[in-house]
Formats: sequence, structure tokens, C-alpha cells
Amino acid sequence: MKMIFATGNAGKFREAREILGPGYEVLSPAEAGLGPEALDVEETGATFAENAYIKAAHIRADLPVFADDSGLEVDALGGEPGIYTARYAQIAGQAGNDEPVMPDLIGHPSNAANIAKLLRKLGEAGATTPAQRKARFRCAVALIINGQVQRFEGSCEGHIADSPAGDGGFGYDPVFVADAFPDRTLAQVPEDDKNGISHRGEALRKMAEWLRQHAS
Ligand code: IMP
Repeated sequence: MKMIFATGNAGKFREAREILGPGYEVLSPAEAGLGPEALDVEETGATFAENAYIKAAHIRADLPVFADDSGLEVDALGGEPGIYTARYAQIAGQAGNDEPVMPDLIGHPSNAANIAKLLRKLGEAGATTPAQRKARFRCAVALIINGQVQRFEGSCEGHIADSPAGDGGFGYDPVFVADAFPDRTLAQVPEDDKNGISHRGEALRKMAEWLRQHAS
């Protein structure tokens, strides 16, 4: 089945192709012949699910379209950064975009300023042990098929490491230690293994199961 994944994030795209496997031809908006405006959308929703729907619904195409919205919730920070995960270092009224880039992250496809802010805030909160640094990734997927929306969710429990490690994955992977792989960060876990336990893996496998049952 041919589908469009409404994302410009190369890491998410690679993972989705891997998770969905050979039965699905997952196209980027550009591969589907759409211009850059297909991804030019403001994420104004109050939840991951709303933002996933906003991104999927913004795409005008005949093919089924799906989008994900994902992020990190850190218990010691009252659930921050949540829906602001992608722009954590830029939230107005808080630390600006001038968080120092961490040497460990130079050249890594992570957002070094976001990670720097996260580690600084956890330090300020006095959260030092894994239990105090408990966190989870969440992923909401919206699939628009035959004019109807279907929603799927996944999560991945873990904690925030003291400092970044590893050069795989993307985003916050260098500081996220999943409960399933407690001795390393997700950036040190092979991609296949990450996909087997990740928030995006769970949500996309649910989508694939729904498609198997409802779309031929
Ligand atoms: P979105 O593109 O608006 O969904 O933003 C997602 C934010 O969460 C970005 O900052 C991503 O880097 C981060 N994120 C989402 N999924 C992952 C993951 O699997 N690993 C690391 N960071 C992630």
C-alpha cells in the first residue's frame, strides 16, 4: 500500500519505513510530488493527538496520509516539555535559544540546545537518581484514509541520563534511557531494537494492524 508520511524529520521517516516493512510504500510529501508548503503548518493543538491530526489534515492528496506528533514527558518537570518538545529551548519567557551546544552532541542529529535545557532544568530540580529522572516518550499518529481519521498511540518508559551518550537515533535519544535497555541511551541501541520498544514503533504497529483489518 502507498501512503504519505507527513514529516520532514529524516529520523522519523527512516524509522517508519523500517517499522511498517515491505508491505507499505511510505512516501515523503516531496516524493508524492507535493511542494514544501505541505509541511508548512503551525502545530496549534493542545495535545499530541491534535497536532498529529493537524499535520496529516494539512496534506492534500488522494493517497492515505499519516502524521505523528511525539515528545517527551519528564515527571520531575511536571510533564515538560510535552507538546513543546521540539521547541523546548525556544519557549518564550524561558531560557532562549542560546543554550550552549554540548561538545558531546556536536555533529549529532539531535537538538543540542533542547537537550542542554532539559539537563539544566533537571539539575535545578535536584533530580539525580533514575527514579527522580523518570520520563517517557509519547507518540500520537493520525491516519487519514478514505476521508476518515484513525488515531493510534504509543509510549516508551525510561529516564533521562546525566549526560549525553551515543551517536545513533535522533532528537533526545542521546539522553533517553529506555527501561527495556537500562544500561545505555537510545542513541546507543541499534535502530531495529529501538523500533521494537519505541513509542513510534508501538503506534505505527497499531496503525499497520488496523490497516490489515480494514483496508485491503
Ligand atoms: P514533532 O516533530 O513535533 O513530533 O516533535 C517531536 C520532538 O520530540 C522532536 O524534538 C524530536 O526530536 C523528539 N522526539 C520524538 N521522537 C523521538 C525519538 O524517538 N527519539 C528522540 N527524540 C524524539
